[in-house]
Amino acid sequence: MNDPKEFRKFAHQFVDWMADYLENIESYPVKSQVKPGEIFSKIPDFAPEKGESMESIFQDFQRIILPGITHWQSPGFHAYFPGNSSYPSLLAEMLTATLGAQCMKWVTSPAATELEEKVMNWLKELIGIPAGWDGVIQDTASTATLTAILCAREKYSNFSINEKGFVGENKYRIYCSTETHSSIEKAVRIAGYGKNSLVKIKTDSNYALDPLALEATIRNDINIGLEPVCVVATLGTTGSTAIDPLDKIASICEKNNIWLHVDAAYAGTALFLPEYKWMINGINKADSFVFNPHKWLFTNFDCSAYFVKDKELLIRTFEILPEYLKTSTGKKVNDYCDWGIQLGRRFRALKLWFVLRNFGVEGIQNKLRFHISLSKEFRNFIDNDKEFELITEPSVNVVCFHFIPPEISDIEKINLINETLLEEINKSGEVFLSHTKLNGVYTIRMVIGQTNVERKHIVNAWELIKKSSLLLKF
Ligand SMILES: *Cc1c(COP(=O)(O)O)cnc(C)c1O
Repeated sequence: MNDPKEFRKFAHQFVDWMADYLENIESYPVKSQVKPGEIFSKIPDFAPEKGESMESIFQDFQRIILPGITHWQSPGFHAYFPGNSSYPSLLAEMLTATLGAQCMKWVTSPAATELEEKVMNWLKELIGIPAGWDGVIQDTASTATLTAILCAREKYSNFSINEKGFVGENKYRIYCSTETHSSIEKAVRIAGYGKNSLVKIKTDSNYALDPLALEATIRNDINIGLEPVCVVATLGTTGSTAIDPLDKIASICEKNNIWLHVDAAYAGTALFLPEYKWMINGINKADSFVFNPHKWLFTNFDCSAYFVKDKELLIRTFEILPEYLKTSTGKKVNDYCDWGIQLGRRFRALKLWFVLRNFGVEGIQNKLRFHISLSKEFRNFIDNDKEFELITEPSVNVVCFHFIPPEISDIEKINLINETLLEEINKSGEVFLSHTKLNGVYTIRMVIGQTNVERKHIVNAWELIKKSSLLLKF
């Protein structure tokens, strides 16, 4: 297709399809029901020699691809953490795709850079990041955390590892809780510290990092000649959204001159609400912070907001200037390719701008509060049923529970029954929930943060869960 008329025709048709899809999304099974290899086997082994018509490509999209899609925008999606979206975000993504701008440097699209700086300042103020910090959009929290862990490495090695690599025995240690996201270990491996440098600290009964254990471990490590360089605190762990006690952790880091990175990938969005601002107490003593608007802030994947106290250190860690990237604007402007790992960058600020403006702060707060109130109601469904049990009190909008079959007390059996229960629930196609293990207990997680979830969806989900439990044979 190389004809603007054709493009216009299909673009209109696709927009109609998009609106229909979103309107009727509940008619699709939330979790894709295909078997491994099913989609692969339906796609030809070789690319076509001659161009094919858009009609036939689009038909195949509907016939082959759609059945293999898990519908993240369905209000029945309660798995993992949401990757939620919204109309304003989608509209911005259409424009972003149309501009097709690669926004690595200021000069490659000044508006992208300057809008990014502005919306990150908005976010900074909204969620309570100190005014002197700077923000930059990353693709994911995994990348942002890797960025932080690399900055810590360069800070404490006085930038020598960027020059020479690790020399001699590595004495650096990085700390996080046993409930921390797997991306921290991945980052530690990629950054060259080695997995054995990562020290996992035990948690309290709410699955939050135990600061006394952290302090004792750090003290002990220093005594035996190791060098603590970084602590990762989590606001909203992936398993149960436990909130690590940031203020206490921050004091320990400040006292021992350790980089503190805060991973608030999911729950950071709750900082839009004054009643959750307590979570971020101590941030002024931290060094870096990440949260994902692409999870619970109605902004299409991917969009991860990374904030740092010392942008010069960040830039010094990543800046690299081959001749073909030299510009005359120098330090007057931000060249965000020097603020992280990737050179090429999408124009992600646009969708964030659309979302923040179209919802307004109040609109966002109302939605978040509504999700949290639904979670409280769902928590009570569980708590009021003798055959179900909360595994931990929800801190935000994730309810962790399991089914306790009558007259069975062996935890391995109970775990197995819950695994079967979850499979049954998801097979219905009406909802999609996922699980974790907390303290050895198979835990079903009900996340209530999809953009368009309503009360009826959680009432239906609860009925379905209850019904499925009654049909179990054991
Ligand atoms: C989701 C999540 C991550 C990873 O986020 P990506 O953006 O997918 O890399 C990291 N940490 C926590 C606590 C998370 O919930």
